[in-house]
Formats: sequence, structure tokens, C-alpha cells
Amino acid sequence: MSCKVILAQSIAASYRDELKDTIKTRNICPKLVGFLANEDPAAAKYAEWTAKTCAETGIEFELRKCSRNELEDKIVEANQDVDVHGIMVYYPVFGDRQDQYLQNVVDVGKDVEGLHHKYVYNMYHNVRFLDEAKTKKCIIPCTPLGLVKVMEYIGIYNSILPYGNRLHGRVVTIINRSEIVGRPLAALLANDGAKVYSVDINGIQEFHRGVGLQLKKHEVCETTLKVEDVLPLSDVVITGVPSPAYKVPSHLIRDGATCINFSTFKNFDGEEIKKKAAIYVPAVGKVTVAMLERNLIRLYDYQNQDRAAKATSTA
Ligand code: NAD
Repeated sequence: MSCKVILAQSIAASYRDELKDTIKTRNICPKLVGFLANEDPAAAKYAEWTAKTCAETGIEFELRKCSRNELEDKIVEANQDVDVHGIMVYYPVFGDRQDQYLQNVVDVGKDVEGLHHKYVYNMYHNVRFLDEAKTKKCIIPCTPLGLVKVMEYIGIYNSILPYGNRLHGRVVTIINRSEIVGRPLAALLANDGAKVYSVDINGIQEFHRGVGLQLKKHEVCETTLKVEDVLPLSDVVITGVPSPAYKVPSHLIRDGATCINFSTFKNFDGEEIKKKAAIYVPAVGKVTVAMLERNLIRLYDYQNQDRAAKATSTA
């Protein structure tokens, strides 16, 4: 079998080495605060994992546990604390629209997860910078960003093309359209030039920037297509179905395709997919955490730039 299996840790390693080096050579100590306000064992595990990874990278991580009704005040307190550079919350907390409200209580300048409405809006509208001078890049949610970095690493992005158009000509199927991963990812890839088939339990939408990338940001069209129509057309198949029973039908995958799984369950039959795919990435979790750290360093720098600018203007 000629399939190359790529593990998330090797992709994450290049980012984490760079981050470690930055923190060490600049002698900085960025601080991330994580709020745990639920009893979900998966959230506790993720918090444990964040703590371990941050310690290895040289980031100070503090886990703050509280009740869900205290959480809003605790976030406000961290927003005001100049020693806290990044804030994250282990969701779900209320498991409904109140979680969306809480995402917007986190100060936009400390939101390492990129879940604040300003970032989400900018991502969907293909607005890449926070300022007119284009010195501050927008924060992108960690899992969709991690998947973009996986695709860059394995060469799906064509670096000969201009930044912003590097997926022109690529066809990608994403099986998941959640607000956390699948829909933002479809928008990011389409904004970068791909034609994306976004599959969910109810059907398939197409995200694209039109022929010759004539549109500035992606548009979305409803289709009557089925999975059996889109999989054979796809250069890349990305899946995140949260079910142990779900398997992507390997016989429909194009010979030589790239297959990436971000579900906690194995959505591809490992042995079958290796007979068809050129590249198989079985999991991406480690890249997600590396992106969280990368977003933190970025926000740390923006906070210092803002402080320096304020000091100059009042001097
Ligand atoms: P979700 O339940 O919010 O969304 C699941 C999506 O899959 C929905 O769009 C749904 O319509 C679609 N779906 C479900 N069954 C389907 C089917 N049979 N065919 C087509 N589409 C189907 O879940 P989520 O928050 O997006 O998480 C999905 C998975 O990804 C989970 O296993 C989660 O643990 C994992 N996850 C991983 C990371 C990471 O960094 N690796 C981050 C977030 C989530």
C-alpha cells in the first residue's frame, strides 16, 4: 500500500518548536486561563491536556473551576486582569444559547478560541485583519485553523498561487456542518478558493467563490447532491461525525485522495482507506492545541502593541 499516514503530532511539532523557541528567546511568559464550569469528563480531560501542553511549551496555564452561574463574573474579572493574556472556556456550559452569549463576554482581545462574534463575522466575510493597516490578523477558531494547517503541511495549499487563492481548483468534502468546526471550516476553505461540499445529516451545500474566484467571499448554494455524487469528485475528504458506528464508504473515495478525520471516533476504516488514499490523517487534536497556543502568543503581542501605542499617545 502506498498510502502515507501522517500523525497530528508531527504536524503539531513544527508549530510547537517554533512557539517554544519564541517564548524562550524573547523571555516572555504569556498566561492562559481556562474556565471549567461543567462536570463533563471530556472537558476535564481536555483541560488536563491543555495544562500539560502549555507546561511543555513554556506557557503559564491556570485552570479556574467555578459553578456555571458564577462563570460570567469570573470571565469579566479575567478580562480586566492585565496579567491574563488569553481566556478559554470548556464548553458546553449551559448547552444552549447562553453559551453563545458567554462566548461574547470574553474580551475580544483575549479570546484565544476565536469564538467572539467579531472573529466569527470576519471569518465568514473573509475579513482577515482587525485593523486598516493590516498589522493584526484576526483570530481563527482553533479546530478549523488546525485543519487548515494540516492541509498546508501536506501540500494541498499551492504556494505558487497568491495568498488567499491557494486552494483554487481543489474540491473538498467536509462531512460535518457544526457551528464549531464544519461550517467555519467550509467557509475558510472556500474563501481560500476551494469548491467545498458541506455534508450534514440533512443534505449537502456547496461553498465556493465562483468561476475564476470572481467573488470576494464565498457564497453558499443548496444542492440535491448525495454523498455518492461528491466523494468521487473530491481531492480531499474531511470528516467529523460524532458516532462510533459511522464509516465513510471507502469505495466512493477517489483513488489518490487525501483523507482527514477530526472526529473522536474513527470515521474511516483504517485498512480500507489506506488502499485508496494517497494521504491519511487519522486525528488532528494535537494540532488544535498548538493553534490555541499560537493564538495566545498573537494576542499577547497585540496587547503589548496596544499598551505601547497608548503610552506613546499619552506621553
Ligand atoms: P456536532 O454534533 O455539533 O456536529 C456533528 C455534525 O456531523 C453535524 O453537522 C451533523 O449533521 C453531521 N453528521 C452527523 N451524522 C452524520 C452522518 N451520518 N452523515 C453526515 N453528516 C452527519 O459535533 P462537533 O462539535 O462538530 O464534533 C464532531 C466531532 O469532532 C466529535 O467527535 C468531536 O469530539 C470532534 N471534535 C474534535 C476536535 C479536535 O480538535 N480534534 C474539535 C472539536 C470537535
